[in-house]
Amino acid sequence: MTLFEQNGVTRFIDMDKKISLIVIGGGPGGYVAAIRGAQLGADVTLIEKNRLGGTCLNVGCIPTKALLHAAEIMEEMNHAAEYGIKVKAEGYDWKQVLAKKRAVVNQLVGGVTGLLKANKVKVIEGEAAFTGTKTLSINKKDGKTETLTGDKIIIATGSVPAIPPIPGVQGNPACIDSTSALSLENPPESLLVIGGGVIGMELATAYNAFGTKVTIVEALPKLLPMMDGELTATLRGLMEKKGIEILTEAKVLSVGKSGDKAEVQVDLKGVKKSFVAEKVLVAVGRKTDTAALQLDKAGIRHDRGKIQVNEFMETSVKDVYAIGDCLGQIMLAHIASVQGELAAENALGHKMGFDSKTNPSCVYTMPEFAGVGLTEEGAKEKGIDYGVGNFPLFANGKALIANGGVGAIKILYGKKFNEILGIHILGPRATEMIGEGALALGLEATLEEVIQTIHAHPTVTEAVREAALAAEKRAIHIPNK
Ligand code: FAD
Ligand code: AMP
Repeated sequence: MTLFEQNGVTRFIDMDKKISLIVIGGGPGGYVAAIRGAQLGADVTLIEKNRLGGTCLNVGCIPTKALLHAAEIMEEMNHAAEYGIKVKAEGYDWKQVLAKKRAVVNQLVGGVTGLLKANKVKVIEGEAAFTGTKTLSINKKDGKTETLTGDKIIIATGSVPAIPPIPGVQGNPACIDSTSALSLENPPESLLVIGGGVIGMELATAYNAFGTKVTIVEALPKLLPMMDGELTATLRGLMEKKGIEILTEAKVLSVGKSGDKAEVQVDLKGVKKSFVAEKVLVAVGRKTDTAALQLDKAGIRHDRGKIQVNEFMETSVKDVYAIGDCLGQIMLAHIASVQGELAAENALGHKMGFDSKTNPSCVYTMPEFAGVGLTEEGAKEKGIDYGVGNFPLFANGKALIANGGVGAIKILYGKKFNEILGIHILGPRATEMIGEGALALGLEATLEEVIQTIHAHPTVTEAVREAALAAEKRAIHIPNK
């Protein structure tokens, strides 16, 4: 065993012998783990059965945001007259909308391919399955089979859309999942979305802007369960104003046919109702993609396909790590990537634990919605003595210009130490602004520290500072109650 120093970290590994690291899955978890592993001197092989970039780049984060960006352009053009600009979106060329989305995806996938090459990561196209604790059999795309053994293995096989056991969904051509919703031939004339989670809300927002009549059906009393309730209610009102029908405490019971459309039976607070829609988007969550891995052959502990790990991303088998969506925990690209870096570090002699404290949750609606840390509901549940600072965006100049001042910023703080517990933003570019909140939580900042930070004018971020001031009843641009 020799000592090895890099970036101020001492690793207890034998650097005379190159460590072989196998990464299964090339999504934002796997490709990041592979690059970090290579940076740390390992001999890295990455196995991908489909396309590098995984769900995120190919059928997730990136293509949804490309559609939403096109939708936003439509919205902006339709409001241009308010700003004195004589233009109205005449319509859209759907083929071009999809072509632009594809071009962005392809460029990013090409980028990942190039980065892996630059880091000398060997990529094998094929599906991996365990045949022993550290041995894999690869069913390659070229029809051949290869057996691989690694000193260390990182599993990053991600997730796929879950198909709920709702009668009439499986095999129904009118029912689509998020993947097909990103490549429809045309926006449907009507769309019923089952599930008011992030994916359902984002695709509802995009298709609404393209003129589809959208209905969201959510079984729980509240949309977006992990987001702040008060701001979620505001967002719901804004979406309803745009013509999106939203039903909560509404459970889809079955899906049948009505001509070439779908007829959806819904239990709405105990009353049976029926809805007809051209397409039904099934957005009730995702399940881990681990069935093909044969985890049991390696003795890797899992709970119905969700791989179990400790804070160091270690599975129950020594030298085998798992990260990202295949854990079935926080299914977000940035979490997969952070865990990927950690797993590579830990596989190569470091010991770093995962902490989700600074994890931002983002919803790309119009306006955007983002939060980090505790929600008010979470603080109440934990019995924390908290206070709230609220700042409405109609009192912020930049927001007023950008979207008419729609939205608000809410800061939660602990009453004893004035430490920031959570920041929640509904407003223009909220997903960009939440970075400040994540940093504040990571640094355990107090209200005073946010207040002491000079925020540029005119920006929407000034409202973060104003929300902190409001918490101390000294906001400048609203009367303090
Ligand atoms: P994945 O990206 O799923 O990658 C896993 C890879 O492993 C896949 O390429 C798969 O083909 C491969 N694989 C699986 N099994 C094997 C095997 N046996 N052998 C070889 N290869 C295998 N997250 C965000 O943070 N922000 C967003 O805005 C966002 N938007 C989303 C929108 C949609 C519509 C969807 C569906 C998801 C979205 N997500 C978003 C979630 C995000 O895409 C995932 O959290 C992220 O992709 C998880 O990364 P991963 O590397 O764990 O898995
Ligand atoms: P997410 O897991 O964030 O993608 O969100 C999925 C949402 O779908 C959750 O809020 C569930 O409550 C909701 N859901 C699941 N099954 C049904 C159903 N049969 N009818 C309506 N909503 C559902």
